[in-house]
Order: sequence, then C-alpha cells, then structure tokens
Amino acid sequence: MGRRRPARPKSNGTPGPRLNETVEEHPDGDYVVRRLTGSSSTKPYRCPGCDHLIQPATPHVVTWPVDRGADDRRHWHTVCWQARDRRRPRR
Ligand SMILES: [Zn+2]
Repeated sequence: MGRRRPARPKSNGTPGPRLNETVEEHPDGDYVVRRLTGSSSTKPYRCPGCDHLIQPATPHVVTWPVDRGADDRRHWHTVCWQARDRRRPRR
C-alpha cells in the first residue's frame, strides 16, 4: 500500500492545553483530534460513525486529516471515533 506521507507538520500539531488538540495515527493517515466540552456548541452535528445526531452541549471530538486541514473536519461522538479505529482490521 502506498502510504506516502510528507514530513509531519509537527510544529502545527503540537498539543496545547488550551486547544485540546492531539495528532493521532490511524491506518488511513494522521488525524488531528480536538476534544470539545460541548459547552460552546449550539447546533447538532451528524456523527459519521453512528449516523446519529450529536446534541448541542454534548462533549465530543472534531477530527480532520492532517494533510487536508480543518476544512475537512468532522464531528464525532467520542466513543464512535474510538470505535472507528477498533473496527478496522489490524495488519
Ligand atoms: Zn456517533
């Protein structure tokens, strides 16, 4: 499999206590994961993991591929994001 990836933009992905962002390695690439308390969310988001709504004020995560940027971000239930990785076959 061609898992070609450029040098990691680590300077950008440094976890900061204020942003609650980390970079996670996944089988399909690296993802920035931002943990939200939910207190600032005012509208429901559709979780791609379970296809249900994430109600406002629910703590959840926002993720996006490191190499594509935050324009491609998705809102996930925290458990669905974690289960996403578990569902994939290990190599
Ligand atoms: Zn979900």
